[in-house]
Amino acid sequence: MLFLGLLILIGGFLIWRARSKRQWQQEVLASRLTDEEWRIIRSQVPLAHKLPPELKEPFEGKVALFLSQVDLVGCDGLEVTDDIALSIAGQAALLVVGTDAWYKHLTTVLIYPGAFKSKQTLQDGYVVTEEEVVRLGESWSRGPVVLSWRDAQHGGLNDSDGLNVVLHEFAHQLDDLSGQTDGAPPMAEGQSFARWAQVIIEAYDRHVTNTQAGRRTAIDAYGATSHEEFFAVAVELFFEKPHALQDAEPEVYAQLSKLLNVDPASWR
Ligand SMILES: [Zn+2]
Repeated sequence: MLFLGLLILIGGFLIWRARSKRQWQQEVLASRLTDEEWRIIRSQVPLAHKLPPELKEPFEGKVALFLSQVDLVGCDGLEVTDDIALSIAGQAALLVVGTDAWYKHLTTVLIYPGAFKSKQTLQDGYVVTEEEVVRLGESWSRGPVVLSWRDAQHGGLNDSDGLNVVLHEFAHQLDDLSGQTDGAPPMAEGQSFARWAQVIIEAYDRHVTNTQAGRRTAIDAYGATSHEEFFAVAVELFFEKPHALQDAEPEVYAQLSKLLNVDPASWR
């Protein structure tokens, strides 16, 4: 009897906690950015200025939720200013502005002033070696995102070169919501996973063939590394050169548009 009572108490507490977290999220999502915050976002993330009017409020709410939930930690002496916080939050919010998908496991973004060194483990049979690589960004499964501020800022300021390290790393975070980072994020409501997989696998195979043949491709050659990198670089292109992606891989564009519930090709 005592055990049953305890179970009911714990169950009730967990329901209450989930409910109050949801309520808190809804309240934060309803908050608006100040004029000063908008001024910084416009100067750091010009793409946000091109959002259609109906996406402005969801964008503001998601920037606010990101800043309430995520600790932005400066590394190697970097001081996290409002410009840095709003640039990164703004770019991360753009990616999910149209969808209910959210970085629910993310609590920390580490920010270095420039490119940073990271350890990479390589396995060749029984031999495991560790080597140091220089990176501009990194996304850990259920763990932090790591960014070079110089490159994160440049990616935000230049919104039409098809390269954006923040969109790239946060695409990995979305991908990881399915339980593993493998190029297959949780689908949007009503989106067919079978169709998604067919489109992405075929486009990836074409991309590998094209890059191996030395042909110029709209999608960055780094996308030929793996399905998850293909997804992340396609997301960069989707927002920054939507027409180029539509021309090169119309089905990939259509699938990303369904997944993220936005159509950047119509924003400009
Ligand atoms: Zn990547």
